Amino acid sequence: EKRVVLITGCSSGIGLGLAVLLASDTCQRFKVYATMRDLSKKENLMECVKDCHADTFEILQMDVTDQQSVVSTTKKIKEQRVDILVCNAGVGLMGPLECHSYESMKKLFDVNLFGTISTIQAFLPGMKQRKSGRVIISSSVGGLQGIPFNDIYCASKFAVEGLCESLAIALQHFNIHVSLIECGPVSTNFMNNLHSVDTSDSCLQEVDSDTRLLYDQYLQHCQSIFQDVAQDTEEILQVFLEAIEAPTPSLRYFTTQFFMPLIKLKLSCAGGSEYVRAMHKFVFSGTKQKEEEK
Ligand code: NAD
Repeated sequence: EKRVVLITGCSSGIGLGLAVLLASDTCQRFKVYATMRDLSKKENLMECVKDCHADTFEILQMDVTDQQSVVSTTKKIKEQRVDILVCNAGVGLMGPLECHSYESMKKLFDVNLFGTISTIQAFLPGMKQRKSGRVIISSSVGGLQGIPFNDIYCASKFAVEGLCESLAIALQHFNIHVSLIECGPVSTNFMNNLHSVDTSDSCLQEVDSDTRLLYDQYLQHCQSIFQDVAQDTEEILQVFLEAIEAPTPSLRYFTTQFFMPLIKLKLSCAGGSEYVRAMHKFVFSGTKQKEEEK
């Protein structure tokens, strides 16, 4: 019998890639429900799965911020069960805190946190009843460590970490495994899709000049980090597969070791100042040096 997988946010990036990878499994072990908010964006995905066996794959509309959409999706699953739930839908937001409107912050939390909660809530009762299931989350190193000018994004991903770590404890009792995939930068369209405050934004003109300068330095750092260490989606997908195939999956999977020293620093120096200093140096001293070299 096929394992039924439901993935959120499949119109692009990691969600699309994972849907294709599982649907094209040579042993046809999976039946994939690839869900997306906007079905008019399904062309890319359709193109990628055109050679897959028809009963390995189905596309459904699901907006994770719309409770009704989430509940009605649960009713469209022919097998009436989901064995592996992948909460992947997510958005970013970048810029000085003072620049973010209440609306844009709420929107981000609606997708990243409440969307993840609603999705899990919808499928958890079935998993508990069957005493089996897996919940896999597209998380981020930004869910474990603060990143400057990503305050709101990190706040939402920290919240997701807290949600999942808490859930995992009682869910052991039900043989339900929760796994967070901690991605560093990934070469998807995430950076283009996210809302970032840019130099033409009028709100940025109102922010103090030191913050503007720091933000500018951060943007340079971000660009070079993406150039130097961003991983291909394929690499990330192998880690998802590892979590899916593991007999007893871990709570966390790291797709890269690159950020490990910073993450460990947070734990080894619990006061936190060491981390704050190290991250400041990591983000801002490189760019300063480059400026001086010019
Ligand atoms: P992406 O922008 O290609 O994918 C995000 C997907 O979520 C999009 O398809 C988007 O349409 C969908 N989405 C947004 N709002 C939605 C909603 N209300 N309902 C349903 N779907 C919605 O970028 P990605 O890199 O594939 O991101 C996937 C996940 O990985 C996100 O949760 C992101 O936070 C996480 N992540 C990405 C990176 C990175 O550098 N790309 C790093 C760490 C974590």
